[in-house]
Amino acid sequence: MTTLLGENCGVFGIYSRRNCVHDIYNGLDFLQHRGQEYCGIATFGDRLHQVTHHGKVANSFTAQELDYLQGRWGIGHVSLKERQPMNWQARVGEISLAFSGNIINADALIQEMKNQGHAFYRGYNIEVIARIIMEAENIVSGISMLPQKLKGAYTLVILTGEGIYATRDSCGFRPLILGQDGERYAVSSESRALQNMDMDIVRDVKPGETVMINRDGFQTVKQFPSPRKAHCAFEWAYTASIDSLVDGLYVQEARNNLGRALARRDREEKDMAADIVAPVPMSGIGHAGGYHLGSAIPYQEVFLYNRYADRSYTQSSQPAREKMAKRKLSILPYAVAGKSIALCDDSIVRGTQIMNKVWDLKKAGAKAVHVRIACPPLMYPCDFGISTRSEDELMARRFYPAGNILSLEDLRALESWTAAQIGADSVKYNSVDSFVSALGIPDRDLCLKCFNGVSPLA
Ligand code: SF4
Repeated sequence: MTTLLGENCGVFGIYSRRNCVHDIYNGLDFLQHRGQEYCGIATFGDRLHQVTHHGKVANSFTAQELDYLQGRWGIGHVSLKERQPMNWQARVGEISLAFSGNIINADALIQEMKNQGHAFYRGYNIEVIARIIMEAENIVSGISMLPQKLKGAYTLVILTGEGIYATRDSCGFRPLILGQDGERYAVSSESRALQNMDMDIVRDVKPGETVMINRDGFQTVKQFPSPRKAHCAFEWAYTASIDSLVDGLYVQEARNNLGRALARRDREEKDMAADIVAPVPMSGIGHAGGYHLGSAIPYQEVFLYNRYADRSYTQSSQPAREKMAKRKLSILPYAVAGKSIALCDDSIVRGTQIMNKVWDLKKAGAKAVHVRIACPPLMYPCDFGISTRSEDELMARRFYPAGNILSLEDLRALESWTAAQIGADSVKYNSVDSFVSALGIPDRDLCLKCFNGVSPLA
């Protein structure tokens, strides 16, 4: 079974009337939840400067490096998988690239390019993209080649001597948004970086669009047709920060609606036995808030979140994830003892973490734990840049090894089995239909592949 451990990452770019390196630093810090293994900044001053690190933004860059990186425009990257931005010298000039997503046909393209005599440093997706762009007459023609050559998901920022190009694949898998104030024009994987830097949100980069960012602001330099949108549904349920606005929908609103949908089902099934509703922090918070609003059951925290621990999901190895999960949450015993708890979380991947949480709550005296999961069961790995697990690691695939598209009866059977596996008194997921309806976005505009196995690129 192939492990499809794609990268999970964020990009940022800014053109400013003053030195921008601290803005890039801050922007990346606000995107840190999108990947914590590597970070990097590239700027254009008298020439192109770049520094990358293994580590998080706040712990990595020294004052000397930030001084070295002075410039008025630049880009940055946070990642789970590799160091970016990457710099290149070519006939299109000196450029630096940072990318978020996953190129499914990268191996085939690398082989083709090797056969033509090209060398690769490590065979990263970003190298393939850079080679395609660098072979063109100019950057815009290079970017114009990407939709023909690449199969997959990409958002890309390209730093040049003239400014920054920001582009998004024609399906718009990963988010990319523009913001500005009186003296800065910026692009970011998520709006929170812009909002928290006191910039106004301008708009999303459209699927298939390339925007030039320079002293004149934002100009669309290319717009490819978008045969269909395929915004990653998982962004709203888990990946994006709850204070972000993604493709016109606030993440908090989406999570509240997903929690309300779970509460509605419990109400309809007359299954509202919980004394309190509680989140698994942090990603369960919006869902639990929605469940509370939809059920009128009191909201009560039962875990204390250790803000100094990383998100376990984006740790790159299983032992690291388990160690981090243990450090991440501690029980609030006063809130738990004698209570029946509706425990809300975004998704179940392997099942080990939610099982440990149920165990911890019962050990602390919970009368019952009813697990409520905002996402439908994860049945398939992601091909488009989110670090979900391989098929044989997904808990739901242990029950349905063939990867069924689940009927409601299948879902009920899986829920009962999952409850027994993790020691919960009950488990309920949103179905794909209730998930889509809670987002309020037509399913033709979403990628739902990790739930239903249907690739938007098929
Ligand atoms: S497969 Fe899932 S995680 Fe990947 S882009 Fe599609 S919805 Fe998002």
